[in-house]
Amino acid sequence: MIVMKFGGSSLATAARMQQVADLVVRSAKTPCVVLSAMGDTTNQLFAVAEAAGAGNHEDAIAKVAKLFESTQVVIDALLRTPETVAKPFAQLRADVELLVRGITRDASQSVPRERTARTRDALVAHGERIATLLLTEHLRELGQQVLPVDARDVMITNNNYGRAKPNRGAILQRTHQNIGPHIARGVIVVTQGYVGAAPDGSTTTLGRGGSDWSAALLCAALLGDELQIWTDVEGVLTADPRIVAEAQPIAQLTPEEAAELAAFGARVLHPSTIQPVVDKGIPVTVRHTMRPDGLFTRIDREGTGPARGIAALASRGPITVLTMTSRRMLDASGYLARLFAAFGELDIPIDLVTTAEVSVACTVEADAPIQQLIAALDGQAHVEVTTDCAIVAAIGDGLQHTDRVLERACRALYPIKPLMVSFGGNSRNLSFVVRSIEQNAALRRLHAEFFGNAAAPLATSVLEESN
Ligand code: ADP
Ligand code: ASP
Ligand code: MG
Repeated sequence: MIVMKFGGSSLATAARMQQVADLVVRSAKTPCVVLSAMGDTTNQLFAVAEAAGAGNHEDAIAKVAKLFESTQVVIDALLRTPETVAKPFAQLRADVELLVRGITRDASQSVPRERTARTRDALVAHGERIATLLLTEHLRELGQQVLPVDARDVMITNNNYGRAKPNRGAILQRTHQNIGPHIARGVIVVTQGYVGAAPDGSTTTLGRGGSDWSAALLCAALLGDELQIWTDVEGVLTADPRIVAEAQPIAQLTPEEAAELAAFGARVLHPSTIQPVVDKGIPVTVRHTMRPDGLFTRIDREGTGPARGIAALASRGPITVLTMTSRRMLDASGYLARLFAAFGELDIPIDLVTTAEVSVACTVEADAPIQQLIAALDGQAHVEVTTDCAIVAAIGDGLQHTDRVLERACRALYPIKPLMVSFGGNSRNLSFVVRSIEQNAALRRLHAEFFGNAAAPLATSVLEESN
């Protein structure tokens, strides 16, 4: 069997839903279909939660009305008998309105943050629930044997609402109970990505973009033959096409290259996607829903490896650089361990690190609790904070064997001055920290150098280039 995951843009209109159904029906093996929410739905639901959280009940309800009315237009264009979904669709809307009332009420009292996060998860999960309702009914109308499976019966997580951690043991067991037998009988299963359930049954979500991760977890549990990520680009490209117009599709990547690219900002794959499937030796392909016969990327151990050099570029921001200085670093062994322990206690992940004689610089997410960290490090180190930075990374298994790679990258970046350079942490990642305003220009310059843009950026100012 295979797992086919379709992202939001692949489900945005009735015509795209029809195309998705066509791909599902034409699949040579019975698929487990994992859906994201349609188009911009998740963003709209977050906006609903925000309006409700700010106490603007009427605004929130108006936003709900807009979302459900525009979805109704898709239903009317997609289904021959739209009335079949009228009742469950109205029920989903009533659920959302009830949750909105709950959030608005909570906002007027001071309820614990955890409760708000829990209600928000229940609310935003409706995007995926709407999508599965529509596609299931459409497949039924096409005469397919199809079963909708509520992800909350399978995707068991902890109760870290908004960023829940999947419980792989429980997922394995539930998948064998609730999905495997149906696929074995040739019944197409349609389920929600991104959505899960805490041990107490309450709805959780895996974090933005998390439906790739759901699909990978299910594919690993089902020991699928292939995980297909269907999206709006012809696979993983040499850079984000929204920034580098000349970015080219990549035919093959190793799992390590793909994981590194995702972690360093290539949004086409959620950073946790690769691990569950690679553990089982299952290949991943990334494909364009509207161009199914076009190019695509295959991610597996056969990836082209060191011979290629740099496989692709990625960038991520904003991030913050912290430079910690202390004379005590001079002769104190174990000093770094004590310094970084403070990060661990505040649950602040560190990305890049460089050290000098009496200082160490590292990068953290822009929303890290930096004031708390500074307080915790009081007396241990002086902390200098540089906000509005970005990481630009070149990734490839053969990076270290690329001739004069560091020299070429620095020359290409000039006059952009990197604030930090990280090379050698592993053999496949060369990262630069630049100012946020230089992020796009840096990416374009490196792309021109290593992949030869037609329009090399000889342009005017770096600032202009970055726009
Ligand atoms: P989906 O809704 O299908 O999950 P996403 O928007 O999450 O789609 O991911 C696809 C988008 O990722 C592309 O449209 C592209 O803008 C962006 N992207 C960023 N980096 C890359 C890259 N290296 N290759 C391909 N797409 C990329
Ligand atoms: N719909 C969710 C989001 O927008 C999950 C996903 O698209 O993967 O983040
Ligand atoms: Mg995505």
